[in-house]
Amino acid sequence: MKQTRQSMEETISLRLFFIGLFSLVLTAALCIFVFHKAFSAQVWADLRTECDEVAAAYTYLGEDTQLSHFVKSGLRITLISPDGTVLYESATTQDMENHLSRPEIQQAIADGSGRSDRDSSTMGYRTYYYAKQLAGGNILRLAQDAQDTWSIYDEALPAVLLCCLAIMALSVVLSWFLCRQLVRPILAMTKNLDTIQEHVPYRELMPFADAIHTDRLLRQNNENLRQEFTANVSHELKTPLTSISGYAELIENGMAKPEDIPSFGQKIHAEASRMITLVNDILQLPQLDSMQQTGDRAPVFEPVDLAEIAHSCMEQQKLNAKRAYITLVCEGGPAVIEGDRQMLEELCQNLCDNAIRYNRPGGKVKLSAGKEKGSAFLQVSDDGIGIPKEAQGRVFERFYRVDKSHSKATGGTGLGLAIVKHIAMIHKAHISLESQVGTGTTITVFFGAQ
Ligand code: ADP
Repeated sequence: MKQTRQSMEETISLRLFFIGLFSLVLTAALCIFVFHKAFSAQVWADLRTECDEVAAAYTYLGEDTQLSHFVKSGLRITLISPDGTVLYESATTQDMENHLSRPEIQQAIADGSGRSDRDSSTMGYRTYYYAKQLAGGNILRLAQDAQDTWSIYDEALPAVLLCCLAIMALSVVLSWFLCRQLVRPILAMTKNLDTIQEHVPYRELMPFADAIHTDRLLRQNNENLRQEFTANVSHELKTPLTSISGYAELIENGMAKPEDIPSFGQKIHAEASRMITLVNDILQLPQLDSMQQTGDRAPVFEPVDLAEIAHSCMEQQKLNAKRAYITLVCEGGPAVIEGDRQMLEELCQNLCDNAIRYNRPGGKVKLSAGKEKGSAFLQVSDDGIGIPKEAQGRVFERFYRVDKSHSKATGGTGLGLAIVKHIAMIHKAHISLESQVGTGTTITVFFGAQ
């Protein structure tokens, strides 16, 4: 089912837009708060200065009625006795209720000065009260009506909203543009995957580009190996088939002398047997490959004694060795590992088979198993023809042979050691090869600390 994926551009733009919106709201709230604080602080400071001046003048003049001279628009002056009786009120001549309960008066009596603010009788205004106790004990209170900060915002609201809308529209356009700038180079990376590492626009994408590059190299390499393998397989199969076909044709046309027919039949049989071995090996390699790479059809791991494997291998190769005039010996002690018995038998057979085939009549092949420094090992050594130094690194490659004709003549497929390598890898074992031309070869498989 096709998955609908989000657009990277849209996602980033949307997030940028929300970040912008959030910042806008936060900045506006902060500005309102700061402005509100500054506004109130200014009103209080003005009122206090005014009150100090009126108090100084009143103390000097000493007359309640003189207070009316200081009244200006929006400013009220009240003189209150310490018991709360209103002695003078600039706003009215009528009797006023006792003012002792007012917070600013109580504070002035207690601390010498006090202040408080309350909603004004005029809508959208607030009254700020500042009271100061005079030397005689009376309290002088100044009240100032100031426009409520919120009502100032009310007036400015349409302009503010318009500005916000404009900023939001701008942020939509900007975030879209920024995203395009951000995403374009990433999209451009895919244009040439061969040189992707040279066109990485951001440091964070380096591992991504590296992974793609490695993957491509791996694929390329696998493709080359596959092509090489197919070419090798075709070639290996073609040779025995040509030979079988040739002998069969001679017999078919009656061109073969009756006395040659048994030898032709034997040759056809030998080539066909070689092909069967080859096909078996060819079929086995991909199976081992997939086991190793994907864990497909996992090998059956169980406790296996390598000494037992070596011994049964010797038993099976006895006849083979006898035909080639080779002495087979088996030594060593028990070495139990967790492994796949069938695979380990195959590994041992392949090594032993080579040790016999690349040997000389009268030669010796020794199979041994045991433990060395906590590692179990299986070793096959011979005193045969040996492997030249320059070929030692390549003998585990598929279809590599030091001497092609010798390998073919003895029924080799060129895949024996490749299979050994795979089986060792599946068992996380490592192979050591020591060989000298004319002296012999020793191949040891170490199975790690058990
Ligand atoms: P083959 O089927 O040809 O034996 P292998 O993969 O088993 O293929 O071995 C690869 C090549 O390594 C052989 O063709 C041979 O030249 C060389 N080789 C392997 N084992 C020995 C050995 N014990 N002594 C000398 N040469 C060996």
